[in-house]
Amino acid sequence: MTTTLGTAEAAPGERDTGRLEVGETRDGSPFGLPVAVINGEANGKTLYVQATSDGDELHGVGVLSQIVPQLDPTEIAGTILIVGIVNYHAFQVAEHRNPIDDTKMNRAYPGNETGTSSERIAAATFEVASRADLVLDLHQGSTSRMIDEVRVRCGSRHRLYEECLELAKVFGCGYVLDQKGPDGQLARVAPEEGIPTVDPELGGAVGWDESSIKRGVEGMWNVLRYYDFLTDDADLERQTRASGFEQYGAPAGGLIHMQADLGDRIQRGEPIFNVVTPFGEVKETITADSSGILWRTRRLPQVATGEYVCSVGTDIDTY
Ligand SMILES: [Zn+2]
Repeated sequence: MTTTLGTAEAAPGERDTGRLEVGETRDGSPFGLPVAVINGEANGKTLYVQATSDGDELHGVGVLSQIVPQLDPTEIAGTILIVGIVNYHAFQVAEHRNPIDDTKMNRAYPGNETGTSSERIAAATFEVASRADLVLDLHQGSTSRMIDEVRVRCGSRHRLYEECLELAKVFGCGYVLDQKGPDGQLARVAPEEGIPTVDPELGGAVGWDESSIKRGVEGMWNVLRYYDFLTDDADLERQTRASGFEQYGAPAGGLIHMQADLGDRIQRGEPIFNVVTPFGEVKETITADSSGILWRTRRLPQVATGEYVCSVGTDIDTY
């Protein structure tokens, strides 16, 4: 059967790209999100993948630009539906939030087709997600520095919790953040529709970091293998999981000297960072409130009092 997504239309064994129209820009031109359909020759599951839900997060579209040309519909069982750039307006100006309504897209799901700009885009993409058996919403730690990880956002009491954890393990970045997300996240809302969904967070960068993109490409291949879109076997590796997340801010203004690297294990009471003057005098040393793993840090060293510095993943185990 022919599969369509916006203007893209592919018969079994075919692929196509096109646009999913969601409205008009300020000059009255229609705009559409770039979409692709890979319709496998054989029957199978449907995977939905989207990228750049936050407009400054380019690793997801980096992954798609590498992997899509390699996906051969004659060798695939099932269908892959892709929206390559979700946050159209934010992407144009390289910002995180949609500048039309100053909203974070990943708080707007499941959206509203007669709502704000972000709600309309969320509704249009959620409708595509609803056609799938599995969903990957490719994100990253924005332009901060972050480890490569996958987020499970449905919460441990959800009926699809185990399926979401499994999908995170299959994607296999090495780290999983298992913590119920805020309202309006795709990875929280799509499981309500019975669709296992995770939010791979591919590092953090301004522009493209090839090592995080490579992780994402490997994760996608592994998902395609494990869920039988491809005939090869998937490798599953044990994941280090954090189920808590603690943020640290600067108690004083100055420059941050980190005392640990991303991915380091930190014991409670150990120093994480110093705030220093321009001449290197230590004003404050901040120690860990809980043991964990240094997960994310700000990119720029200068801070004002109270400004975000870093996050530590806590309550660590493996699965
Ligand atoms: Zn994001």
